[in-house]
Amino acid sequence: MRYDAASMSDQPHASEASADATLKLTSPLSELPGVGKRRAQILRRLELETLADLIRHLPMRYEKELAEGDIDQLSTEGIASVRGVIAASRFVPAYGGRGKSRFEATLVNQGQRLSLTWFNAGYLQDKIHPGLPIRVQGQVKLFQGYPQMINPKWEALEALEAAPAREEALRPVYPAAEDMPSTMIHKLIAEALPKVLDQLVDPLPADYLREREMPSLADAYRMVHLPAHEDEPAFGRRRLKYNELLLLQMGIVLKRHYNQTRLIAPKLKWNEAVDQHIRQRLPFALTESQLHVTRQIAADLQRDEPMNRLLQGDVGAGKTAVAVYALLMAVADRRQGALMAPTEILAEQHFQSISRMLAGANVRLALMTSGQSKPGSAQRKALLDQIAQGQVDIVVGTQALLGEAVQFKDLALVVVDEQHRFGVAQRAAFREKNDPSQAEHHDGRLRSPHYLVMTATPIPRTLSLTIFGDLDVSIITGLPPGRQPIITRVVGPEKSDDVYRYITGRVAQGEQAYVVLPTIDESGQEQAVQLKSVLAHEKLLQDKFFQGYKVEAIHGRLKPADRDAIMNRFRSNQTQVLVATTIIEVGVDVPNATIMVIEHAERFGLAQLHQLRGRVGRGDHGRKSLCVLIGDPTSEESAKRLEAMAATRDGFKIAEVDLEIRGMGEFFGTRQHGAAPLRVARIPEDMDLLQMAKRDAEALVARDAELALPEHARLRRVLLQQYGQSLGLVDVG
Ligand code: ADP
Ligand code: MG
Repeated sequence: MRYDAASMSDQPHASEASADATLKLTSPLSELPGVGKRRAQILRRLELETLADLIRHLPMRYEKELAEGDIDQLSTEGIASVRGVIAASRFVPAYGGRGKSRFEATLVNQGQRLSLTWFNAGYLQDKIHPGLPIRVQGQVKLFQGYPQMINPKWEALEALEAAPAREEALRPVYPAAEDMPSTMIHKLIAEALPKVLDQLVDPLPADYLREREMPSLADAYRMVHLPAHEDEPAFGRRRLKYNELLLLQMGIVLKRHYNQTRLIAPKLKWNEAVDQHIRQRLPFALTESQLHVTRQIAADLQRDEPMNRLLQGDVGAGKTAVAVYALLMAVADRRQGALMAPTEILAEQHFQSISRMLAGANVRLALMTSGQSKPGSAQRKALLDQIAQGQVDIVVGTQALLGEAVQFKDLALVVVDEQHRFGVAQRAAFREKNDPSQAEHHDGRLRSPHYLVMTATPIPRTLSLTIFGDLDVSIITGLPPGRQPIITRVVGPEKSDDVYRYITGRVAQGEQAYVVLPTIDESGQEQAVQLKSVLAHEKLLQDKFFQGYKVEAIHGRLKPADRDAIMNRFRSNQTQVLVATTIIEVGVDVPNATIMVIEHAERFGLAQLHQLRGRVGRGDHGRKSLCVLIGDPTSEESAKRLEAMAATRDGFKIAEVDLEIRGMGEFFGTRQHGAAPLRVARIPEDMDLLQMAKRDAEALVARDAELALPEHARLRRVLLQQYGQSLGLVDVG
């Protein structure tokens, strides 16, 4: 699933018939009347650049403006509007020059009184005076039984009865900026929307919508932005959510269909003997859960439909052994496998542990990283030749494996470890890694390797359905036997000296520690709070606490070779304390490291903290591992998160809590994972709509997989716009 595609799924799609309209959905907002350079700039800060962006900028709530009424009917619910004549007014200066000044007035109509107060509004003295007929609008409060409005909006009337009465209305409230208030955004939308409504292409046929009691896309946007009735916003929004979810599910279902019908993968041989042989290679017996998962994978690999599976398992659950099992199935069938890791450190670690596992076996294993061989070097060329000629069975590497020069003789399986991005593009790229002369099967299907993605980011069920819907999911539950418990403590920053003093004692007993910080050095820090940094902390720890021991720092700005050297010194216990950024978050496995300290813990996401904690508690040495979260949880939210970390070690539970607290957009963190996949719909609240969209998408594809029926033409066009060619849809124009 491609995030960027999904994130666009409620985007209004421009129709071709709009060429003569002056304003288009793609028009920059500066073309709107009243939007000059400055306003356009402010709007850009709200990520609003085009008219389509503006239309997609949905209200976060509505304020009810009651119809203009009489003072004696004023209620304290919602915004009210009344008119009357000012009977009295006075200015009350700030007391002793401090606090706020007040301007007070009394409005009277037919003997009823409403008191009005404006703070810091001395200028009103010149404008509002007894005898003036005005209309005010604001929230009503009862003060000692009498109605009152604080800081109401007001307008002077010519005469008390002159202006027509205000009608009841819903006023949308938009996410806004200080210099671009919600009212201004509303004004812009109210002006622009009617001009472009007929340019919105509705991907769904009218009958289809009628059956589901849903409005057209144009109506839905109108209802959300310019509601004529109280029920309209929810009605319109439901359609927008459905649209987004349906397009997402169509993408998923079509991709799956494409995978099944247009691609072909090698059927890998598997039987008792193969199974026994592979399992004897592993240095331990697989757990029940690992075994169950390998059975699922083995079943996939025996079919000629490419496997497309996500293997989830908490940190330390033993995913590598499962990957090795699958890779050995490829080797047993005399084909090749590749294992791709996100960093050099991890690739190397996998290479070493797999080498150990396969010692003495007749399997040719190679490592391809820039540390192992520089791109373009003679050594790299030799390696590439071996891969191309099938003299290597399993290649472990980084993204470099996707490089242009890499060509396999017969790549049957790709395993991608600790993947966060799950790109379709990547999967497609691996499809081109085989002999191009053999790219097509005789029946026209394209050859593709099987694909296994592994992640330790536990993904709640509700989410995996949305985002990874085109992947089959396997889950390793539990941890291998002999795993040591991890004690987690949350402490305030004032305790950090005590923490390090305690750790000194444990290091003296031969244990090792990680200390994680959010930044490398002080440069570029603008925050009011100075964050402790890796480099400063390395020095502090070395000089103040760990004099007789070696402290080293590791971070992303180091050269890969230096990083490897540091990692190796830590692995062999020449270094006792490793001060690091989150670079060590994934996969690093040093069993003797039993202590994890995370400074500024409130700055990390829960999933990230969980990953980091998973670096300890790995050995079978019988020592109790410790994770100390040093945090200053200033918000209730971060306090809740840190508590959740201390309360459980179950990654799935942590993920659910994280999802609950931060919502889906934040769950993955945009930096690492791309834009949030949904804009309008909310998971899990909109689960019922999601299920409906899923059923509908499946029914649509079952009936018309090519979307060739005339009533599906617009849907096809919109999907092509959103996903490009990756769904295998033909663009017939
Ligand atoms: P992850 O799922 O985080 O990638 P690993 O594959 O690195 O976990 O496994 C974590 C540790 O558990 C490794 O040291 C591995 O050798 C060990 N391990 C995995 N499976 C088993 C098992 N069935 N029995 C004993 N140890 C195991
Ligand atoms: Mg791993």
